[in-house]
Amino acid sequence: MTKKFFVSTPIYYVNDVPHIGHTCTTVVADIIARYHKLLGEEVFFLTGTDEHGAKVAEEAKKVGLSPQDFCDKVSQTFAAIWPKLNIHFDYFIRTTNPQHEKIVQELIQKIYDRGDIYKAKYEGLYCVGCERFYTEADLVDDKCPLHPNKEIQKQAENNYFFKLSKYAPLLIKAIENPTDLNHYQVSPSAKKEEILSKLKAGVGDLSISRANVPWGIPIPWDKSQTIYVWFDALINYYSALKITGKEDFWPADLHLIGKEILWFHAVIWEAMLMAAKLPVPKEVFAHNFYMIDGRKMSKSLGNVIAPQQLMDKFGPEATRYLIASSFPYDKDSDVGLQRFTEKYNADLANGLGNLVARVAKLCETKNYSPSNFESASLKIAGYHDFMQKFQVNLALEEIWKQIKALDVLINNQKPWEKADEEAQTTLTTAVGNILSIAKAVEPFLPETAAKIEKQFAGPKIKSAKPLFPRI
Ligand SMILES: [Zn+2]
Repeated sequence: MTKKFFVSTPIYYVNDVPHIGHTCTTVVADIIARYHKLLGEEVFFLTGTDEHGAKVAEEAKKVGLSPQDFCDKVSQTFAAIWPKLNIHFDYFIRTTNPQHEKIVQELIQKIYDRGDIYKAKYEGLYCVGCERFYTEADLVDDKCPLHPNKEIQKQAENNYFFKLSKYAPLLIKAIENPTDLNHYQVSPSAKKEEILSKLKAGVGDLSISRANVPWGIPIPWDKSQTIYVWFDALINYYSALKITGKEDFWPADLHLIGKEILWFHAVIWEAMLMAAKLPVPKEVFAHNFYMIDGRKMSKSLGNVIAPQQLMDKFGPEATRYLIASSFPYDKDSDVGLQRFTEKYNADLANGLGNLVARVAKLCETKNYSPSNFESASLKIAGYHDFMQKFQVNLALEEIWKQIKALDVLINNQKPWEKADEEAQTTLTTAVGNILSIAKAVEPFLPETAAKIEKQFAGPKIKSAKPLFPRI
């Protein structure tokens, strides 16, 4: 039986437009999906948009649209941008899809029927920006750490609560013990430690309904309340499979997310699934953030980079490369347009692009035609280890070491000084290695890999247009 691999990005909240942060998660998820396809696995890759909640209704009102029209519009900007970056998701889920809404209601009813949801009075500090409650200890100068410009609201209302506290010990066991029936991995390791120490410090129950937020899914047994947007949103990973008839892809192999939503994905989601007696995902991986020229990216600083901006300057393939090679794996990564330009010229124009052009030219002048090299395999040392751990930036470094090594080999052997016959050995090695490099970069640069494979497939290897013209 073919191994199955299910990878998801978060569903992006429609109060925002696509920026480099979303692009990072989605490009890397696509790279991981393509890599697993290359390994011969059957892959399901999910992305989408998160469309309920007070903040969405508020934004819609500001621009004079109904919440649904507003969601349709913003959701489309996300759905349309990804294919331009050669991102091939298998399904785009929207939480306003009536099928999703029905599945959410069924799941919450199931948890309610099992006795893990109760009604109580809730008083808390609510950030409308995050759509979540905070405790005093979470706040920075009495403000939400992510929204210092928004007022924190004191809210008191009767809500339904999910018994998250009951699941805390089970979650700790599930994370720590690889033989636990509900075992799942939280990675990288610093994120796992962070979650474990928070869980061990004690966890309260979670308010999962709102009395005055009509833009949401009604609680099935009490229509005066709607389901908390996070409770609704997390279920997308499961509902998408039911909607598409791909339930056999559950549990997910990987939820790839940014670190700001780790708690929801590594704690609340698994507790919900345990309460509903469903298997938990195998791994939650949270990456860090991009800094833009040494500063945090923010609308107010005006330093937000949009994916379209990158594509206009570098094209889709190079944009994928620049994103993946600066992937903020476990610490923040400093990027910027100047830095990206330098990287583009060094690694793509002068690195891969130049090597390919150089070898093609040599083959052409030396009348070399490919004959006896083995078909390209993924034999680059370290590559698979890094790809399996989602360290895509380090996997690229391994490939680029090969590119440099091949350049050195050609410099040393000087095939251009030799007779055609003698030059053959060097060129056979060079072409074999180039095809192997093309295979390895395929998840990152699918179009470039296809171009290289075509150029070196013979019977006559010829020079072609440069893959990456200098900027
Ligand atoms: Zn906030």
